[in-house]
Amino acid sequence: MPAPFIIPIFIAHQGCPHHCVFCNQHQISGQGEAAGRIGAAEVAAAIDGALGWPRRSPEAEVQVAFYGGSFTGLPRPRQAELLGAVAPYLADGRVAGLRLSTRPDMVDADGADFLEASGVRTVELGVQSMTPSVLTLCRRGHTAGDVPPAVAALRQAGLAVGIQLMAGLPAETPATLMTSAKQVAALGPDFVRLYPTVVVAGSELAAWYAAGRYQPLSLARAVVLTARLKALFDAVAIPVVRMGLQHSAALAAALVAGPHHPAFGELVKARMLLQKIRQCLAGQPGVSRALLLSSRDQSLVRGKANAHLKQLARAGLLDGVRLDFRSEMPRGTVLVA
Ligand code: SF4
Repeated sequence: MPAPFIIPIFIAHQGCPHHCVFCNQHQISGQGEAAGRIGAAEVAAAIDGALGWPRRSPEAEVQVAFYGGSFTGLPRPRQAELLGAVAPYLADGRVAGLRLSTRPDMVDADGADFLEASGVRTVELGVQSMTPSVLTLCRRGHTAGDVPPAVAALRQAGLAVGIQLMAGLPAETPATLMTSAKQVAALGPDFVRLYPTVVVAGSELAAWYAAGRYQPLSLARAVVLTARLKALFDAVAIPVVRMGLQHSAALAAALVAGPHHPAFGELVKARMLLQKIRQCLAGQPGVSRALLLSSRDQSLVRGKANAHLKQLARAGLLDGVRLDFRSEMPRGTVLVA
């Protein structure tokens, strides 16, 4: 089944009375304060426009996604207005499902039932961290204790649950980050998204950064930490559907500092793959072997201008080794033959 064809509708900062230190939704969504209130007409226009876009996989399921604010923080009539605008498309099958993102403290059983009855299939919770001191310092306005009941309410209503986590938040250490991830994994979400913290203009974090109160992760460190998180979720078969922020002109313009890279997820996958290769090849220098890899991982394994292969060769790990890229090998697999 190909990945769904998502029609994104940004409700920048709507429904959210908070101001997390890292957040400037207006900058990231690219819509600015002047974009104002999004109503049923704008939703319908966005869907009509997107349905005409070319699709990589025509058979992919079409989903509408409300992103960028805290959807369930909107008054119920506003939620009904926005979801109702999608209803005709759900009824005639042009759209197969709805998804949205919100905060853990803005979900209860009644609200989850309402979403399910309105055609919503998936809700993503911006959890970001389960470390109490980090949540407080980041002015999240909710606690780690809000997360389990929110997940349970959504599950009870029959909705799929995604959880977003961030690496590199102020006061988060590698140890507390991994503890957060374990707590999230224990809740058994249907998927997670992993984002490195970046500093965007207009956020409180930008002021902290300018004052020397906050130092973002380097790109290399963010890749290492995200690879550890990915390995943790892989081990319990929880899909990581995204690593790194979606690159956009608006984000590039707002970015002040931090480990943003347009192909952040590929950097993480390459690191994980190279680690596996090193582990497989270590300890038998010079022994004639074939390394079986997926042909779809070829560019990750080689790296830009074969940089990864050169690293492995310098370490003497490729002596006597023949790389055998095969189409039938699953991605991320490394076998020695
Ligand atoms: S909860 Fe989300 S929308 Fe609200 S301030 Fe925080 S990051 Fe921004």
